[in-house]
Amino acid sequence: MPIFEFRCLECGNIFEKLFIKTGEEVIIECPKCKSPSFERVISRTNYVMGSGKGGSKPKVTTKSCSSGNDCMTLEIPGPDE
Ligand SMILES: [Zn+2]
Repeated sequence: MPIFEFRCLECGNIFEKLFIKTGEEVIIECPKCKSPSFERVISRTNYVMGSGKGGSKPKVTTKSCSSGNDCMTLEIPGPDE
């Protein structure tokens, strides 16, 4: 199960997000200040997905939400069969 780490750009809080399902799109926000501004922290402990075949990298996309705020969503790629 992939765990991703993020750092809030507003308050500096570092939080983790655990993704149960693959292929889902989630909206991430800081649990402390609810800011949608964050950056990905590359964790020291790399997770291993399965047998490690082929390029399953999460895709981070930025899009504009209502009222002009930027939101980021993270798309977790499904297993590559
Ligand atoms: Zn925050």
